[in-house]
Amino acid sequence: MTHAAIRQAAYAANMQLPELGLVLFTFGNASAVDRKAGVFAIKPSGVPYRELTPEMMIIVDYEGRVVEGNLRPSSDTKTHALLYKEWSNIGGIVHTHSTYGTAWAQAQLPIPIMGTTHADHLTVDVPCAPPMADARISGNYEHETGWQIIEHFRELGLDPSEVEMILVGNHAPFTWGKSVEKAVYHAAVLEEVARMAYLSRQINPDAPRLKESLVQKHWQRKHGKDAYYGQQ
Ligand SMILES: [Zn+2]
Repeated sequence: MTHAAIRQAAYAANMQLPELGLVLFTFGNASAVDRKAGVFAIKPSGVPYRELTPEMMIIVDYEGRVVEGNLRPSSDTKTHALLYKEWSNIGGIVHTHSTYGTAWAQAQLPIPIMGTTHADHLTVDVPCAPPMADARISGNYEHETGWQIIEHFRELGLDPSEVEMILVGNHAPFTWGKSVEKAVYHAAVLEEVARMAYLSRQINPDAPRLKESLVQKHWQRKHGKDAYYGQQ
């Protein structure tokens, strides 16, 4: 089996999505990149998770061209390809339509940073790119979805190695990480903070965002130079 490592990583990541309750049916996809080879492995389109095998993962280059595989790759492949091409530090990407994350995307709102769970993972709201313009939708849609993400990061001055998640307005979450395992983790974190923020605003519509001292405390103890969260 060629590209065995990324096939196995992409397979395992895809299988985790339904286990974590992040996808229904065949919604969602995960991919893992091999930077030396310049290709990534992604789920085939429309195949139920229980039928997947590592051998069925499709090997694709950064232009979205299939290098190896008999099945059609995920319909979102061109979004993954562009993100790998433009953001050379990321190792894996996940896309889901997880319920709470997607609800914020449909509401066209960033997920506000309201608690320490959120601050353990990022110091800003989970960004929400605007819904795509008609010209982008009628053009090379999945490729343009990638640009929608990248341009929104540029507008906000965000670094994709620090903020590893976004909502695309009217669509759903995309997450990434140094590895596809990290991208899956971030997809689960996004869903959880989306749910917590939603519930908090239900209990108290005027609940404020987390104050900056707590944002910094929680971020620094996990990611700062004197981090002390977890084991050495
Ligand atoms: Zn989607």
